[in-house]
Amino acid sequence: MLESLDSQFSILNLVDNEFVPPKSNSYLDDIGPATGATIARVPDSDGRDVDAAVAAAQRAFQAWSRTPAEARSRLLLGLADLIERDADELARIESLDNGKTVKLARAMDIPRAVANFRFFATAILHDSSEAHLTNDAALNYTLHQPIGVAGLISPWNLPLYLLTWKIAPAIASGNCCVAKPSELTPLTAHRLAELVVEAGIPPGVVNIVHGLGPKVGDALTAHPGVPIISFTGGTETGAAVMRNAGPLFKKVSLELGGKNPNVVFADADFDEAVATSMRSSFANQGEICLCGSRIFVERPIFDRFLEAFVAKTRALRVGDPSDDATDVGALVSSAHLAKVSGYLGIAREEGEVLCGGGRPANLPDRLRGGYYLEPAVVRSDRTDCRVMQEEIFGPVVTLTPFDDEAQVVAWANGTRYGLSASLWTRDLERAHRVAAALRAGTVWVNTWLLRDLRVPFGGVGDSGVGREGGRESLRFFTEAKNVCVKMGERR
Ligand code: NAD
Repeated sequence: MLESLDSQFSILNLVDNEFVPPKSNSYLDDIGPATGATIARVPDSDGRDVDAAVAAAQRAFQAWSRTPAEARSRLLLGLADLIERDADELARIESLDNGKTVKLARAMDIPRAVANFRFFATAILHDSSEAHLTNDAALNYTLHQPIGVAGLISPWNLPLYLLTWKIAPAIASGNCCVAKPSELTPLTAHRLAELVVEAGIPPGVVNIVHGLGPKVGDALTAHPGVPIISFTGGTETGAAVMRNAGPLFKKVSLELGGKNPNVVFADADFDEAVATSMRSSFANQGEICLCGSRIFVERPIFDRFLEAFVAKTRALRVGDPSDDATDVGALVSSAHLAKVSGYLGIAREEGEVLCGGGRPANLPDRLRGGYYLEPAVVRSDRTDCRVMQEEIFGPVVTLTPFDDEAQVVAWANGTRYGLSASLWTRDLERAHRVAAALRAGTVWVNTWLLRDLRVPFGGVGDSGVGREGGRESLRFFTEAKNVCVKMGERR
């Protein structure tokens, strides 16, 4: 159905496995970043739509929470197969909506959505819980029980990848959910809704309400019938989520922004450090929360690193996201392009823009309205400036020389964020020492974005609260209950 997108095509909300228009009957324009043209219309939903979706999820919870794990697992595996069947179409839709290259969506976003469902579908079959014998007089064991209706709010940068990272563990654990995708990138969520129905997931288990954060997101996080909220997005929005959820004592997981350091010591494998740092700077147009946006390079190799890095950055091909020769597609929106460009203005005052930051020349006519930006490298010897402290979330990276380990650890840790970090060295002792000292939820050594879905994932400081991934997700989406059984007198 989404194959023939046009500006009049309206997606709908999914409530009780029915596709329904928003109660307001009004729609927002969904703009395609590659061209700046309207590609579809998105429901401008409000609290009434959230109420209906929560009611559907509450009704479904009665049966779904009692459905045996094996049966839930089979349904999720079926859904994963359908996503895989439609991977090509989903990759093209994701690219159309977000501006990322089809190549990247095909290699990363969609396979990861498949993996999310397969992972949690099988994780629930292998999970176990604790039991404790107490003085041989009592047996304590722990039940991990589903909680009810989960409110799931996701951002635009990895639309299907992050939406399914929430839906899969929530429903695998026996909860029902109301999901709110980003209003900027709703299309793959709509296609997922169709696949949910096709997979035979019972009505009400997955509900999707589209619309604006301050309307739909606000209503969802404030809803008394939604005791658990998983949110991924910006730090300021995370604070708004907390303001709603706090007084209602909801269980909350917040995956927020980052300003991740990438520390390259002089003994690192130079070529690999440069090549991977290119990816960690500019993959997905730099719009990944885990991108290493601050590169610190030890002084003996700084000039060489800078020269190689700038040359490779200049060689990146920016343009048509549907062309497999393209490295960097379009930014997600004109507002985001303006924000990122604004930071380049600041960078010119605070440091030196070594390359990029302009609009690519020679864009074909049909892409003239798109949101393109040449990837930029900024040299900054100060670490307290705005460009090195604030999340830019675009194809802009800073390069800074450092002289010793203590100094670079202090600089790396010197922001309000603490999501991830990379470090490059062949010195094993230093790798362990620096990894332990970095203030981050994830530290990669001699690599970047190598993900294992079993590991705890999340941030510290302004990068978030709580952990998801593997068992952490299963624990987050369930409530632990202790059952204590007296065993009777010993003979
Ligand atoms: P955002 O905070 O603007 O929006 C995220 C989601 O929240 C959207 O669905 C939006 O509609 C909704 N929202 C907006 N206002 C709301 C409100 N008042 N109440 C409830 N929901 C509301 O973020 P974004 O611009 O879509 O995404 C970019 C941000 O996400 C960056 O800061 C990035 O670092 C972060 N991010 C973090 C992770 C992570 O895992 N830590 C992953 C991806 C993105």
